[in-house]
Parts: sequence; structure tokens; C-alpha cells
Amino acid sequence: MISLNVFAKEKLDALSSQGLKRDIQVTERLPEGNVIREGRELISFCCNDYLNLSHHPKVIQAAKEATGQYGTGAGASRLITGNHPLLAKLEKRLAQIKGTEDACVFGTGYMTNIGIIPTLTGAQDIIFLDELCHACLRAGSDMTGGKILYFRHNDMGHLQELITQNRHKHPNAMIITDGIFSMDGDLAPLDILGRIANENDCWLMSDDAHGLGVVGGGMGSRHMFDPLPDIPLQMGTLSKALGSFGGYICASKPVIDLIKTRARSLIYTTALPPANAAAALAALDIIEDEVDYCRRPIEHATLFAELLGLPEPQSPIVPIIIGDTDRTMTYAAALEEDGFLITGIRPPTVAEGTARLRFTFCANHKQEDIRALAASIKKHGIIT
Ligand SMILES: *Cc1c(COP(=O)(O)O)cnc(C)c1O
Repeated sequence: MISLNVFAKEKLDALSSQGLKRDIQVTERLPEGNVIREGRELISFCCNDYLNLSHHPKVIQAAKEATGQYGTGAGASRLITGNHPLLAKLEKRLAQIKGTEDACVFGTGYMTNIGIIPTLTGAQDIIFLDELCHACLRAGSDMTGGKILYFRHNDMGHLQELITQNRHKHPNAMIITDGIFSMDGDLAPLDILGRIANENDCWLMSDDAHGLGVVGGGMGSRHMFDPLPDIPLQMGTLSKALGSFGGYICASKPVIDLIKTRARSLIYTTALPPANAAAALAALDIIEDEVDYCRRPIEHATLFAELLGLPEPQSPIVPIIIGDTDRTMTYAAALEEDGFLITGIRPPTVAEGTARLRFTFCANHKQEDIRALAASIKKHGIIT
């Protein structure tokens, strides 16, 4: 047996030699959306705080008031004494926005997915996932012990083929997709997915972590379709455009009741602090009242894409695929030299050979900064 430290060091060295060691850097985010790293202020194009609501005066005020009144922590799990009235209020509000009977709030989006998927499907069942689904949808699916099949990204023909060959062998089936894909920024064909799910007796689940607040007039990816697609399981996070922290699932009352009875990542963990719910509620007020403001991130992404001749974005996420991991990290460092913070995204977050620069646009970005970023990208020959 080797010592723990030797084991860790050898494993890290192997990852380093493939350019896959990750360094978590101390970063301070400023109210306007810029960040400070190692004493240097950078313009950030890699935050998910799309509407800059984490620093919005009304959102901060709501969190402060809730903290002052109810304290900093929830004190227990929701099944014991942690189920603060603000959580119930938030669930009602989310259900209303998503057009479902009920909702359940979790500690994070990740915990939501690893809670609900194993609650609804088991070892006898089958799950069809888009191959570009977020890591926590994969993690939740793996925990079911059931059969898992990945269909090619947004390829409805491939999904139908897998269903035709496999659906009949299993009692229950789920189809799982991101609404807006986190690393590519494109939209799932939720209308066709809804139809395929209904025709083949599958339960459709969408993860709209990057949709709520920024697409579909702020209402999320489902609202980019007319008529609205039928999606019985609508999951999302409070931690991106809402500027708070936590996750949620919106569904029918029996489904939510079952989740509240059985989801382990809800039952065996402390409830969300009341202030997080208060902040999310204040953020939802802003999103519902200010539709034009919700459009700003995607307008900024569109300007960026136009400047560089990229395809029209469907969300505020715009990737530039580089392929090679080292080159991706070199480009990110060059842009940082010019004052722009962009994270290079590498395997295993994305598939081998598709390392990329991933740009996310927020409401507070200035047009002149977006133009300067595009100029810097051209200057370094990232796109010519
Ligand atoms: C960020 C993200 C999550 C996780 O949400 P958290 O609240 O940050 O845990 C889940 N799904 C997708 C698609 C995401 O982008």
C-alpha cells in the first residue's frame, strides 16, 4: 500500500502532465460584475450571474432583512424544523412561473438532480440523456442503477431510434435534457422532445439552470416555444440568473409529494437558509417586472457574435471551440493579459478534443468592453 500523500501526488502529477490539473483561484466579484484576481481588476466574461442580481440593492435588502429576522442558518433539515415559510412561498412562486401544481426547493441544483432522478427511476428503468447534459444529471442518473443511454446532442432521430430499440424492455423511462446547454449555449428542441416523450410513454425532464431569467422573456427555455411544450419535470437553480443559492424542481403535486418523502439529498441535509429564499423571491420580482432588462444578456451575446462572425446565439453563453487543451489555456491567459477573464473549459467538463473558451454575457456588460474583447480575440488570432 502506498501512503495517502504519495497516492494524491502521483495522481495529480499524471493529471498535470495532461494539462488537466485545476487551480481554484481566489476571486472577488465586484458589484458591477468585474472581478479582482491577485490584486488586478478584470472584466469578467465567465459569471453565471446573468442579470447581476447577486448585487442588486433590492435582492441584497431582502436577504439582509431575512437574515436579521430569521438568522443565518436554517438550523435543521426541512423535515425537522428547517422548513421556513419563505421556502413554501418560494415554491409556490416557482410553480406559478413554471405552470406546474407544485415545486420543491433543494440546497443546490446539483442536489436537486441527484435527489429527484433516483426518486423517480430505479434499477429496472431506463434513462435517455442528451450526451451534452450537465454532469449532475449524469450523476443523478448513475445513482439509479438503471440502464442509461446517451443520444447524440439534440439528435431526435437518434433518440427515437434508441427508444424504439429499448423502451419496451423497461417499466418506466425518463428523457433528460438541458434546456439551454451549459457549455454550448444552444437550445434543446423541447417541442419535439415533449412529443416524443408523450408518444413513447417517457417522462421528460428539463434542466433550465441557464434559462430562467435570461431566455423566453425571462421565463426560461420552455417559453421559447409556442405552444408551450409539455414538460412534467422542470428543474433549475436559484444560483445563476437569480443571484441567490439553491435549486428547485417544478412538477405535479403527487410527484412533488413523492420527492419530499423520498429524495435523499432533500431529507438528509440542512434546509436552505431563509435569506437565500428571500433573495430568490426578490430576484423573481425583478425578472417578472423587467422583461427588457432580462433581454440584455442575450443582446450582448448577439453583439459579440456579430463582431466575430459567429452563429447567432440562442442564450447568453457563447463558446469558441479551440480543440487543443494547451492552446485553449494559452488563449485564456492572453485574454487575461488584456484585462478579460474567460475560463478555458477542458475535459472532462467537455468531450476530448473540444476544449473551448466559454463566454457568458451579463446585463451589466458595456458595449465598449464587448467590442474591446472581440478586438483582443482577433489580435491574438483566436478568430481571424
Ligand atoms: C450550474 C448547473 C447546475 C447546478 O446548479 P447549482 O445550483 O450550481 O448546483 C445544474 N445543471 C446545469 C445545466 C447547470 O449549468
